[in-house]
Amino acid sequence: MTVVERVEASVYVFPTDVPEGDGTFAWDSTTMTLVRVWSGGATGIGWTYGAAECGAVIRSTLAPLVTGTDPMDVPGTWEKMVRAVRNSGRQGAIGYAISAVDAALWDLKARLLDVPLSGLLGRVRTEVPVYASGGFTTYDDAQLAEQLGGWLAAGATRVKVKIGESWGSQESRDLARMTRARELIGDDVELFVDANGGYSAKQAIRVMDQARDLDIRWFEEPVSSDRIDQLAEVRAIVAPDVAAGEYGYDLFTFRRLCESGAVDVLQADVSRCGGLTEWMRVAAVAASFGLELSGHCAPNLHVHVAAGIPNLRHLEWFHDHDRIERRMFDGALIPRDGVVMLTDAPGNGLTMREADVAKFLVSA
Ligand SMILES: [Mg+2]
Repeated sequence: MTVVERVEASVYVFPTDVPEGDGTFAWDSTTMTLVRVWSGGATGIGWTYGAAECGAVIRSTLAPLVTGTDPMDVPGTWEKMVRAVRNSGRQGAIGYAISAVDAALWDLKARLLDVPLSGLLGRVRTEVPVYASGGFTTYDDAQLAEQLGGWLAAGATRVKVKIGESWGSQESRDLARMTRARELIGDDVELFVDANGGYSAKQAIRVMDQARDLDIRWFEEPVSSDRIDQLAEVRAIVAPDVAAGEYGYDLFTFRRLCESGAVDVLQADVSRCGGLTEWMRVAAVAASFGLELSGHCAPNLHVHVAAGIPNLRHLEWFHDHDRIERRMFDGALIPRDGVVMLTDAPGNGLTMREADVAKFLVSA
């Protein structure tokens, strides 16, 4: 029988191009834990963006479990991983680690069968709608203009900027930056905003009222996603679609977001929620509430599974991760006119540029 012969985790730290920040966090580097799994002459690749501890969890706990399993039986191996971490907790770095291994296993299976990953999972579309995402609160006017200009040149149809600066303490700058973004993109491109939980409920409602002429279409995490009741309160009043879910780690969290009326569109992240295996189930939970799902960040990890769910809204094409994935892999997809096109390449279509990124490797 063909088995998974080897599982390896490598942790990379990539400096950002310029300092990045949102409503409630700031950073100047991004950590990626890359997983490779080998079987029958094929290599599967998966990854997550999270603490270096993800690599430690994979080496100590997940790799010994996954080694020797049948690479065709990804859901079975997923179940084994989740059961094994019961006493450590599924959330946080452990959930990220499981997600990365799951993604690598799906890629491995597709490569062993010599089919594109989207073909293995099954498609409902061959092009996947995306939105350009960045617009960091740390950007000055010139940096914002340059980024939006680059996206427009690539035909972007939806763009997202960060607001809620310094935990909601810079309302007037938030409004000025939204106004500037609308001026720069014109009337025909959809404008999205993300407060990363930086506002209070009343404040979020007030800011959207002041921004009513800007035709904002998407208001992500207006308040903390821990406050489902307040998300629902904001959603009931503001005009844009309210979205949340990027920190969801299991189906129960996603169900609670849906059933409490907290979101117009559910978000989930393949690299956090439990990999492709769980993301497909999250899509089913959302569908049962008549909601669409939007994929959060790690863009090249989402494309193939996103092609297969009927209730997809779009994927977030996040500047920071787009930049890393283009550097890390040959075959990274590049959006054009608001979509990415699937290719016929086997698996996820990516090949590591190992020598080029060796200088960012911090542990293997
Ligand atoms: Mg967000």
